[in-house]
Amino acid sequence: MEKTNNFGKVYLIGAGPGDPGLLTLRAHAILEKADVVVYDRLVSPAILGMCNSKAKMVDVGKMPTHHKVKQSEINKLLVKFACEMSGATIARLKGGDPFVFGRGGEEALELVAAGVEFEVVPGVTSAIAVPAYAGIPVSHRGIATSFHIITGHEKIDERRETRDERRESSSSVILEPKAIESTHDEKCKDECVGESLPLASVSTNDKKVVELVETSATLSPRGSTPKTPDESLSEKPVGLDFETLAHCPGTLVFLMGIGNMDFIARRLIECGKDPKTPLAFIEKGTTPFQRTVMATLETAGETIVREHVTAPAITIMGGVVELGNSLAWRKSLPLSGKRLVVTRAAKQSSGISARLTALGAEVIETPMIETRDVPPYCRAGLRSGISNSSENKVAEPVELEDLKNFDILAFTSTNGVESFFKQLFAAGYDVRVLAGKKIASVGKITEKKLLEYGIRCDYVPEDHTGEGLGLLLRDVVDKCEHVILSEERSSESKDLVESRILLLQGNLADDTLLKLLPKATRWVVYETLPVAELPEWKREAVVSADAVVFASTSAVENFVATLNPQSAAGAPSNLMPHTSFCIGRMTEAAARKHGFETITSDETTMDSLVKKIVEYYSLRS
Ligand code: SAH
Repeated sequence: MEKTNNFGKVYLIGAGPGDPGLLTLRAHAILEKADVVVYDRLVSPAILGMCNSKAKMVDVGKMPTHHKVKQSEINKLLVKFACEMSGATIARLKGGDPFVFGRGGEEALELVAAGVEFEVVPGVTSAIAVPAYAGIPVSHRGIATSFHIITGHEKIDERRETRDERRESSSSVILEPKAIESTHDEKCKDECVGESLPLASVSTNDKKVVELVETSATLSPRGSTPKTPDESLSEKPVGLDFETLAHCPGTLVFLMGIGNMDFIARRLIECGKDPKTPLAFIEKGTTPFQRTVMATLETAGETIVREHVTAPAITIMGGVVELGNSLAWRKSLPLSGKRLVVTRAAKQSSGISARLTALGAEVIETPMIETRDVPPYCRAGLRSGISNSSENKVAEPVELEDLKNFDILAFTSTNGVESFFKQLFAAGYDVRVLAGKKIASVGKITEKKLLEYGIRCDYVPEDHTGEGLGLLLRDVVDKCEHVILSEERSSESKDLVESRILLLQGNLADDTLLKLLPKATRWVVYETLPVAELPEWKREAVVSADAVVFASTSAVENFVATLNPQSAAGAPSNLMPHTSFCIGRMTEAAARKHGFETITSDETTMDSLVKKIVEYYSLRS
């Protein structure tokens, strides 16, 4: 299609069923550059976290008033963004696949009508992936030669009609309206992602009714022209063709059907389906909270109630379900079902996040600070601006050419290492300027980062603290171990050695090192800025998390200030998780001060912290 306008382009993207690893490469590439992301509620926070951090995030699963946005409004919104944002990339992110009960087709039609260019990025549908994660193949040679994806939505009017019909024809088992309402209210209100018609009850003539009937994806209702759900409201409702479904030999997969499943199961039995047909409910499939509950057609309703099966869940029926007993490959991992907030700066968090995810946790990356390199012209100002530094240690601004005046470079963070080298390279230097110099690191993580630049450390304290590093370097100075210019071990030569130590730190580094090495120079190579606000989707994910991981005191302080600005030190309010996993004693103290339960790693390494997290939860399971 030739482009005749400058409208933005809309991408109808499937986000998959939950596991961020099931997002397609194409979807990922678009989300990274998107200017606007219009998303449904079931999209995983981990996937939202992959979106361009500058993108406008629009939650159409829930509005500030806690009402879902109507489908017609979503359609209008997409057109509006496209028309108003010339050349923009607008991502419409939907759970599973956009064209499988995702109403992507309706959105696409609206875009075509408005002359807006669009592209569809198919997603992994829950209808197939969720059973697969439970070890249930939707088709299997000799067991099921077809599978059918059906919506479990149904219109109450249709039920009423069915009920009336069946009253006439005697022996039917009917859900009473009250039971239907409460089933919906309790079980089903979270379903129906992106649907324009609320699944929960609405009031019509003072009577609660449940709206919306959909057609089966594979089975068209006999003799009816498919209508859009909006249309179907005002028309004679379309119901599921239970006769056909009951006699269909393939696997039946119901989406959005938990609230109606008792009714559906009974109708299928009435229409001749074997009551012993194996059936599985799979809740929150592919996420760390996945659960499979087995039943049969005749026990479906009671099983949902007894096992508290809740949305989102799919129901799968047929012989293939039994394979799940032997093929359930997704073992319960030590951190399965745990939602953990990782508060490190984005570029540092991926390591720990990947490890926690591999152990089964759902990780919400919530950097509380971001770091910025301090360009050379800012250094003098910043250095004099450090309020907690010992006076007289920041006499002259440091420039890169001044490096020749130092024999020992001491790094106290990976950020410091990265900022230093970035600036070094940007200024046209390379690592040869470090020839002959000794390099000190506060701990193993910083040491490892230096190795990435080909630099091996000469000094690393055993206890991985600023104090440890200060004492170690003090010792080096006292022994005049590293005297390049002066061979004499006099007090002047000690002073000289000390004055040729350069500390590369962030603007928030405390005074410990400078106090132990008063003649050293500190170069503030990066500054740390707090992340002022959390987007609403992230705030919700964070509040519901099991615990938060802190690697620095500033992360604790910023976290508390951002989540709960009103709170003074004390017990964390219900706006935050209660448990914290900390690296380092200072971090632990800061978290305690704010009332967190603290679990602190034995060593100041990520390995040690991850071990501690696993230990903590295994003791509690
Ligand atoms: N377009 C989506 C389906 C949207 S309808 C897709 O292709 O998957 C929403 C329904 O999908 C939910 O009510 C539930 O039945 C099902 N669903 C979506 N994600 C799910 C998940 N992670 N686990 C179980 N069911 C899920």
